Amino acid sequence: MTDPRTEELASRLAATRERLDAALAAAGRTDEVDLVVVTKFHPVDDVIRLARLGVRDVGENRVQEAAAKVADLAAADAGLASSVRWNMVGNIQSNKATAVAGWADRVHSVHSAKVAGGLDRGRARLADERDDVPPLPVLLQLSLDGDTSRGGVSREDLPALADHVAGLAHLTLSGLMVVPPLEGDAAAHFADAAEVAEGLRRAHPGAIGFSAGMSGDIEAAIAAGSTCVRVGTAILGPRPVV
Ligand SMILES: *Cc1c(COP(=O)(O)O)cnc(C)c1O
Repeated sequence: MTDPRTEELASRLAATRERLDAALAAAGRTDEVDLVVVTKFHPVDDVIRLARLGVRDVGENRVQEAAAKVADLAAADAGLASSVRWNMVGNIQSNKATAVAGWADRVHSVHSAKVAGGLDRGRARLADERDDVPPLPVLLQLSLDGDTSRGGVSREDLPALADHVAGLAHLTLSGLMVVPPLEGDAAAHFADAAEVAEGLRRAHPGAIGFSAGMSGDIEAAIAAGSTCVRVGTAILGPRPVV
């Protein structure tokens, strides 16, 4: 039943889970960490393969590509589609936020009140149509170096954004997300972000998530307390050029 690509994905997935387990053991942690497999630029067939391999959390970072894959997966296999949780991890333009709320099961990259407002409205619209629409879990993306052009909210503006999001009826404030700056030491950046995450948790006890760590820095992120790693390349291989 297995094609070569499925075998490749299965072995890279297993290797990544081993890395994650080893990192948790090294950090003396016994809690569970979410593994979001980031499938951006890869075809929906890979999402199907991963879902059949038991992957639950799938991540995408571009709105149009994600919406197309969500529709394609539902059309290909509705049962499988219902087992997948779509995570939006990339930058969202505020005029696209309402649409994102239509397919996302969790959003890691809220950086402004406008984006949060759009997600909240989109979710409200869904809730008008159906009874079974839970609030959308969202994380606030922190810009550690304050260069918000790369996404994220500055640490100065984070508390006010958190209070705002916590007041929206159709969103659940679930934690903090970070993509460390390219410059400097990832471990130091994650430790810095972990302190901000702790502050957010003190102000909003439900915001327990800390989404940090990608293919190159899983270990450093887990050592700093990440509760959710977002891994693309280590599982899917290099992204196709588009
Ligand atoms: C692409 C992406 C990832 C995965 O990166 P890899 O280095 O391929 O593991 C994680 N987070 C975000 C926000 C991404 O855009």
